[in-house]
Amino acid sequence: MYIKNVELTRFKSFGSTVSIPLLQGFTVISGPNGSGKSNILDALLFALGLAGSKGMRADRLPDLVNQAHSKSGRMVEASVIVTFALEDAEMAALQSEGAIANVAAAGEWTVMRKLRVTSQGTYTSTYYINGTPCNLSELHEQLAKFRIYPEGYNVVLQGDVTGIISMNSRERREIIDELAGVGEFDRKIATAKDK
Ligand code: ATP
Ligand code: MG
Repeated sequence: MYIKNVELTRFKSFGSTVSIPLLQGFTVISGPNGSGKSNILDALLFALGLAGSKGMRADRLPDLVNQAHSKSGRMVEASVIVTFALEDAEMAALQSEGAIANVAAAGEWTVMRKLRVTSQGTYTSTYYINGTPCNLSELHEQLAKFRIYPEGYNVVLQGDVTGIISMNSRERREIIDELAGVGEFDRKIATAKDK
């Protein structure tokens, strides 16, 4: 599977709706400093629920809404849609497990997150899988089937590589545990011991 499209609406520096097609394999996005390249990765973290606002370089979620709109004093909605291209077998696995799988289109699986901010600054956030609302733990459960985890380094951000280089061996080992899929079991053991 791979991500074939990211659509951003009023998210960070993207004032209107921008659809970014990604190719299977390797896609490079280039542009001047401050042009919004990292904001595209923040959009992935946002839609897939992989980071809190700080992880997306914002103090709080409403700061993720495009400023030109949030300053208007009206209610604003920002959204990001991530479209995955799935192989037949991956699709079948999702469907057989009764996942939220009212398929968007053949071989496609979409995750969307909408953020509504009122003129008073209060906000609501909703996740959708193939258009059906779901909560964050349901989304994480589905993403785990694709080995996408909040702690999983599926999205490697600017500065992460430098961070990994300067870690001590124990911290680096924890990353390898995450990538190998062992970290999840360690967390389950820790949770079980807590109870
Ligand atoms: P670099 O090459 O320096 O890493 P970049 O292309 O990764 O740059 P980003 O960090 O993605 O750039 O974008 C930063 C820009 O996004 C800044 O100009 C910032 O003002 C703008 N920005 C961030 N949040 C918002 C927002 N809510 N509304 C409008 N613009 C925003
Ligand atoms: Mg950047």
